[in-house]
Amino acid sequence: MERQAIFLSSPEVWERGHGMGHPLKPERLQRTFDLLVAYGAFQASNVCVLTPEPASIDELAVFHTMEYIEVVKALSEGERGIPAGRYGFGPGDNPVFASMFETESLKVGSSLKGAKLLVRGECDVAFSYSGGLHHAGPDFASGFCVFNDAAVAIHWLIQKDLRVAYVDIDVHHGDGVQWAFFDTDRVLTISFHQDGRTLFPGTGFVDEIGRGAGVGYCVNIPLPPGTGDEGYLWAFREVVPPLLERFDADIVVSQLGVDTHYKDPLAQLALTTHGQEGLFKILSELAPRWLALGGGGYAMDVVPRAWTIAFGVMSGQTFPDELPSNYRRKYGREWLHDHEKPPFSSVNEHHLRSLIEQIVSIAKELHQIA
Ligand SMILES: [Zn+2]
Repeated sequence: MERQAIFLSSPEVWERGHGMGHPLKPERLQRTFDLLVAYGAFQASNVCVLTPEPASIDELAVFHTMEYIEVVKALSEGERGIPAGRYGFGPGDNPVFASMFETESLKVGSSLKGAKLLVRGECDVAFSYSGGLHHAGPDFASGFCVFNDAAVAIHWLIQKDLRVAYVDIDVHHGDGVQWAFFDTDRVLTISFHQDGRTLFPGTGFVDEIGRGAGVGYCVNIPLPPGTGDEGYLWAFREVVPPLLERFDADIVVSQLGVDTHYKDPLAQLALTTHGQEGLFKILSELAPRWLALGGGGYAMDVVPRAWTIAFGVMSGQTFPDELPSNYRRKYGREWLHDHEKPPFSSVNEHHLRSLIEQIVSIAKELHQIA
């Protein structure tokens, strides 16, 4: 049966951003949208593009503190005298920018709209590609994330008495979402990421398994730098399907950061678009009702291709590998998938594989996976 797929987008998500020189360039969203349009992806009869509305203050407050929401609003309006640094803002990762409140609450509204459409049965999968801002805390900004759309959407879903599984494949640990649901058995959080000893935010070790009622409902697979398609996919298949089958979620929320790519300038995993597509396909099979969120990804020529491939998997479309000529003229590149391999690395393949196997075997023991 064909899946009803919704893509959530509005030019407002890419018209403003963190500013020149910041890695989270809004253009990555525009290019992704342009590539999907160029492929005619939105013309399929089972696909619909919808415009999100900003999340309301009450909606933001299911996860964020009122104080923080008011601070973000005031900073966004240019108010002075607020100790911005106390809330995680400042030059560097989380600069204050004009209309920050409007832009960031729209991203939350986008993910929340996806959640609502899924619950109402109006679609089987919704892709809120401007979301996936998994580092933000209840009262602080972190790692380019102002509001945590994933945590807000999951809170909204569990208020509807649904069981939610969250799978995060961004190269960075999904810390904000993990801590939001660390004490509960209502949400299973799984994060695959580059080892926290080598990358921001420095958490997500295999022994972080939840607390109190939440013990066993938090899963972390830290992967060594240099991990490529084969090792990642092997680990993912060992861990994720058995956990999701056992948890039996009503809805799967996934953060689809594509900064795992070997060309990504901020991290050191070595996936190609083939490996990323493999992950999207496994998730697609495991998630009959699927709220897909965006996330990281800082190589401008990778992000639009990877998320186009992702939306193809969600909506059951295969696009020709040659990029549409109007897109190529505007942005360059030839192929949707990678045709070249990651450059030769000095990492010993054998050693890498044995590190991955060790982590997976510890995780399987901790979480009683056969
Ligand atoms: Zn990331």
